Amino acid sequence: MSETLATLPGPAPGGSSADTERKGVEAALDLLLAEHPVDSTEPTELFGHQYDAGLAWVHFPEGFGGLGVRPELQRVVDDRLREAGVKPADHTRFFGMTLAGPTVVTHGSDELRRRLLRPMFTGEDIWCQLFSEPVAGSDLAGLATRAVRDGDEWVVNGQKVWNTMAHLADRGMLVARTDPEVPKHKGLTYFALDMHAQGVEVRPLRQITGEAEFNEVYLTDVRVPDADRIGDVGEGWRVSMTTLMNERTTIGGGAVRPERGSGAIAEALRIWNELERHDPVRRDQLIDLWIDAEVLRLTNLRAGARRKAGNPGPEGSIGKLCFAETNMRIYEFCVDLLGAHGLIDYDYDMRRSDMIGLVGPPGSARKMFLRSRANSIEGGTSEIQRNILGERVLGLPGEPRVDKELPWSEVPRS
Ligand SMILES: Cc1cc2nc3c(=O)[nH]c(=O)nc-3n(C[C@H](O)[C@H](O)[C@H](O)COP(=O)(O)OP(=O)(O)OC[C@H]3O[C@@H](n4cnc5c(N)ncnc54)[C@H](O)[C@@H]3O)c2cc1C
Repeated sequence: MSETLATLPGPAPGGSSADTERKGVEAALDLLLAEHPVDSTEPTELFGHQYDAGLAWVHFPEGFGGLGVRPELQRVVDDRLREAGVKPADHTRFFGMTLAGPTVVTHGSDELRRRLLRPMFTGEDIWCQLFSEPVAGSDLAGLATRAVRDGDEWVVNGQKVWNTMAHLADRGMLVARTDPEVPKHKGLTYFALDMHAQGVEVRPLRQITGEAEFNEVYLTDVRVPDADRIGDVGEGWRVSMTTLMNERTTIGGGAVRPERGSGAIAEALRIWNELERHDPVRRDQLIDLWIDAEVLRLTNLRAGARRKAGNPGPEGSIGKLCFAETNMRIYEFCVDLLGAHGLIDYDYDMRRSDMIGLVGPPGSARKMFLRSRANSIEGGTSEIQRNILGERVLGLPGEPRVDKELPWSEVPRS
């Protein structure tokens, strides 16, 4: 059985006090910046040195981009590098850094970790997520893409959908069915798919904003080396859970900036301040939203500080749910404030995008009103987050699941 991130080797015994860990991280940062000055080092090269120094994901094991220390110390690294002039990761690195990295380090062999993690962190390999299918979104375990073993390879056929960044990706986190004769959760296997392999076809899907952030991906007789399998055969559900828990926590936590009054609520305030007349009803609404945004920010900061090690648990759904609902309400309020101006000035021309626009820059409220409709769907719908919180956090009785014990091949589907 694969190790979990929580059981991987951590800091040396006896040297694990909060102070010692922090000093270790600061010393590694001093050395990194002294040996590779930001002004004279090409960004990809600098990210590579950051990985080698164990400052990519500080809670990962040594030798694999980390130092085995508490994850909250990543903020020390990010703040210090930002002050030194390093630009934050662009959106194309999102899936690698936040989803694929934790999955590979938790379930991948050392050979896979060595091969995949460094180029993922530097951005030389862009990653996407190939989970959802036309009839398997919330019910991910029902997916139908097949992988059939052929010697040292697997032959994959099927269709994935809503795959953000797939048009730019070099690798895809692919979950496929390797055994249709066992219950749905047990017959899945997880692969690191080479997106440039023969038989991978990526087609754009245009969103309500006009942009095509995401795609449908057709897989026809794609040959995947067994060496690119992450986790054991039939363990794909467990591996996917690591990806999904990190996704929820990232959307919920990462999209909320640590500075008070920043992000979407800053846009609402900016528009409010530009209005000529301030009516008291709208003022009340703004204050309500401000309080919700502030509660969300503080909850995320507290959750980040309490996370000691390893992958996030089902509690990550709290941040995801609250972020989605709050963000949508703030942008609705912005468009209400703009009145007739909220309806104009935005075109719907088809554009390819290299952005994942969870929170927009100043002046983007019209577009963000449309884009934020996706917040309660992407990364798992709000209904599913409520189910997770009810069943796995509060311990309430589960929904009836009539197909849980049936072999997947016997489950009726459209
Ligand atoms: C902007 C965006 C980006 C995305 N990016 C990716 C990506 O990169 N990779 C990827 O694999 N997927 C991606 N997705 C897909 C996303 O994960 C799915 O859309 C989502 O999981 C919902 O699945 P579905 O669309 O099939 O809806 P369905 O599962 O068909 O749900 C339809 C409705 O039924 C409700 N519902 C379903 N089951 C239950 C239940 N048990 N209890 C209560 N209500 C239920 C849902 O909440 C929803 O309202 C993205 C989606 C969006 C919008």
